[in-house]
Formats: sequence, structure tokens, C-alpha cells
Amino acid sequence: MARSLLRGGGLAAAALTTLALTTTAPAASGSTPERAAPPASAPASLAASAVAAGTDPIRATARPVTAADVRYTWRSGCPVGPSRLRVVEMNFRGYDGVVRRGMLIVRWDKVGQTAAIFRAAYLAGFKIRRMDNPNKWYGSDTEMMKADNTSAFNCRRVTGNSSRMSPHSYGTAIDVNTMHNPYKAANGVWYPPNGTRWINRNLRDPGMIWGSSTITKQVVSRGGVWGGYWSYKDYQHFELG
Ligand SMILES: [Zn+2]
Repeated sequence: MARSLLRGGGLAAAALTTLALTTTAPAASGSTPERAAPPASAPASLAASAVAAGTDPIRATARPVTAADVRYTWRSGCPVGPSRLRVVEMNFRGYDGVVRRGMLIVRWDKVGQTAAIFRAAYLAGFKIRRMDNPNKWYGSDTEMMKADNTSAFNCRRVTGNSSRMSPHSYGTAIDVNTMHNPYKAANGVWYPPNGTRWINRNLRDPGMIWGSSTITKQVVSRGGVWGGYWSYKDYQHFELG
């Protein structure tokens, strides 16, 4: 069931939404290390993104994840359990200008800022190819990058460096328009193979991300980072603050 963050009275509705999400979250399972349930002060992150009822341009909603939502992206031993993840659904503008519905799975305390970041990018005219559940690619990051998918949570090793867990395993990182914003792995390989044209950042194609982009400024202003500033460029990658 989708629960609107935004309808029915602003902050009070957001607070109720968080309370409901918290109290209905399943218990931590197995050996997965879990912190305590989100504290009662949690509504602050949602309240920050709340706007007047009926005016949210991306109609952002959040709900707990189901087992099916993370079928190929979570397994026992992953650092963040499903009870601490949320599905954020929102509208985005496609490369063809058509507005579509997409979804991102993020850690519970990143819901508000995720909606705020993508709302600002939407209002700035930013275009996104697709925003589908990584299950569609069985959680394969390399396949998902080829498909130009925008996604967040995925409990996996770093692509091109299998000794490290990816920050996507924590639900606090988001990859955006992966083909137009390629990634240079620690082994020197650029991913995805169909994105090498966009290693050239002098191009000006829709969906490309620069330091001057609204989405980058939104992330950085909240204490997050953009991989485009790293020496091994990861133009698609944001880590939320
Ligand atoms: Zn990434």
C-alpha cells in the first residue's frame, strides 16, 4: 500500500506516515545487524520534504519494502535489513518529455531528502531515462547500467572491485542515468560499455550530470557527494548526506 507523504495536511500527515511505517516494519532477521527502530523524532526528514497538499509536482510517496521488492538485491548478511528500507515512488520526466512513474529503494532516513532532490531536479527540467526496480535485471549492476536505469539500494560488491561492499548496499547511494553518466572502476574499466561516448563531458546531451546540475547541487548542499568529483570518475553516482 502506498502512503502519500504529502496529502491530507502537510506535517501532521508526514508524521503519521512515518509512525505507521515504523510500527509496521518487520523485526530484524537472522544475523543482520540492525540498529534500533527509527526514533520518534524521525518525522523531521519527511517533514522537510512536505509541501502543501496536492501541490507536489512529483507526487512522492513512501512505503515499506516487501520481500518481492528486494528479491534479487537483498540477502541475509547484508548491512541494512529490509525493515529499514523504503520504496519511494515518484514522477520523473523522460528523455522524450513524457512524465512517468518510477521508484527508488532507499534507507528509511533518506526518504525525505530523496524526494526533495528529485523534486528540485524535476522542476529544473532534468530528464531521466527510467527508474525501475533492479529486480528487472536480477540485481546485476552491469546489466542495469547498460539499460540506463536510475536506482539506489542494491546489496552488492563494488563493480570492478569485488573486495569492497558498494555504498548502494546501505540504501544511501543513487546512480542516475548510468549510460550518459559512465563510471570508471578501480580496475580502469569504464562502465557501461554503451556509455563510453559520454566519457566526453563536453557533450551536452539530456540526462548528463555536471557539478553545475541542480541534482548535484541538491545532493552536495545536504552534505552528500557526487562521484564526478572523484579521480576515478563516477558521474552517475551520488551518496546522500
Ligand atoms: Zn553508484
